[in-house]
Amino acid sequence: MPNPSKSLLNKTQIPFIELRTEPGFQTQVQERWREALHKSQFIGGPALTELETKILDFTRAAHFIPCANGTDAMQIALRAVGIGVGDKVLLPDFTFWATYEAVVNVGALPVMVDISPLDLQMDFRLCERAILEHKPKAVLLVHLYGWCSKDLQDFRDLCTKYQIPLVEDAAQAMGTRYLGQSVFQEAQIATTSFYPAKVLGAAGDAGGIFCHDAELASLCRKLSNHGRAAHYGHDQIGWNSRLDEMQAIFLSESLNHLSDRIDSRLASEKFYHQRYTTAMPLKMLTCPPEIRGNGYLQVSLAHTSYQELSGKLKDFGIGTGNVYPSPISAQPGALNPILVSEDRVTYEIAPRIINLPLFPYMTTVELEYVCACLRKLGLGS
Ligand SMILES: *Cc1c(COP(=O)(O)O)cnc(C)c1O
Repeated sequence: MPNPSKSLLNKTQIPFIELRTEPGFQTQVQERWREALHKSQFIGGPALTELETKILDFTRAAHFIPCANGTDAMQIALRAVGIGVGDKVLLPDFTFWATYEAVVNVGALPVMVDISPLDLQMDFRLCERAILEHKPKAVLLVHLYGWCSKDLQDFRDLCTKYQIPLVEDAAQAMGTRYLGQSVFQEAQIATTSFYPAKVLGAAGDAGGIFCHDAELASLCRKLSNHGRAAHYGHDQIGWNSRLDEMQAIFLSESLNHLSDRIDSRLASEKFYHQRYTTAMPLKMLTCPPEIRGNGYLQVSLAHTSYQELSGKLKDFGIGTGNVYPSPISAQPGALNPILVSEDRVTYEIAPRIINLPLFPYMTTVELEYVCACLRKLGLGS
């Protein structure tokens, strides 16, 4: 068992996230990039079709519409389900800022709903209350931390009952399974991000939309490509939000290894849980039993603030994250925020979240070292 001492301290640098890939992965990408460069195939090339086939196979979704990033994906999805100026949209108070931006950027009015302390996802009961109180035109549910709500099916049924579209922000949920099924499979419409640090990351920005309905898919495709009906015929005001050939190649090659990367993340997550006896002042959280997560982030709850703990771990050469430190409704950019909450759970929890290092192909030595340092700090046994 390594003992974190000064000598180790100087050598050990375990970042919060490091994007490790398989031997031969980069060479394979380089060869295909060189070929695409040689042929000047940059937009709408063959790798896009390959990506579509592979990702539909992986997610079990019916349709995939590639686009430029995860934020655009949400904007396009919201517009495609009919959201526009003045419409209210529900979203969780605990998410990345992009979720809020997407709502505002389509002209809609965001209404934040507090999270459940049980799974840190939007609270189901508060969501129903918000639907009755605010009459929103859509719900934008976020699958945070590579988990999703334990009540996902109830959310889907609730939106069907009130006849409002449910858009699922699955930027962090590639590979996540709910009751044994891919979260993308039964979603009316779900979006994802291929930002490099996500579970399926591109070599830059990229994103995509998944949906059931063929007509909705074709509208999303049109909106992502200048509202094109013909090359110079436009029947919608859309966006330029295409996914380029270089990213498609990188993502296609990554998909060959995605299951291995997820398995590796989950094995590291399990290691933390087995080696670390959960006790305050640091509580490692687990994904609800209905869900098989994708190991996107390790999630712990500190007794004190994130700052204090992260500083101590940094002295041991260990990087950490605090995803996310502030509720959306407390951000300076959220003007006159509307919040549906009873206990302000997000306000209580957000500043105390600490994410330990978790990324593909972490070694046992690295994991042992992190656990040894936590023990040394009196955080667990
Ligand atoms: C990353 C992320 C986004 C934004 O995706 P981009 O590709 O960076 O635009 C949106 N929502 C959540 C929950 C995310 O994690």
